[in-house]
Amino acid sequence: MEISVARKYLEEMRDSLDRTVAVLRGEHPQVGSGVAEAEAGDAGSNLTEADRNLAAVQTALTQRTEVLAALARIDDGSYGRCVDCGNAVPEERLEARPATARCVPCQGKRDRSRR
Ligand SMILES: [Zn+2]
Repeated sequence: MEISVARKYLEEMRDSLDRTVAVLRGEHPQVGSGVAEAEAGDAGSNLTEADRNLAAVQTALTQRTEVLAALARIDDGSYGRCVDCGNAVPEERLEARPATARCVPCQGKRDRSRR
């Protein structure tokens, strides 16, 4: 993938995540589905909604951090290389996930170490 294409894509992702966070943090967050709200019932439904909102904000912020890091790597010329082992990240992986920071083996190791 062309770096210029990756940059444009990542900038769009960043803007989209900014909007998502702004909406989620707004006074009238539109999160969750009708199904979950029906299940939550009366008591504690506000808390459940707040928890879900917080989780969604955290997910968006985590993704935003990844996107910003990828943009920083484009700037310093290291984009497309694994941040752990330094090997080139396969083209098809970058196309599927432009914000990815690691090659498949390193991401696998990282995911396993989290559990
Ligand atoms: Zn690696």
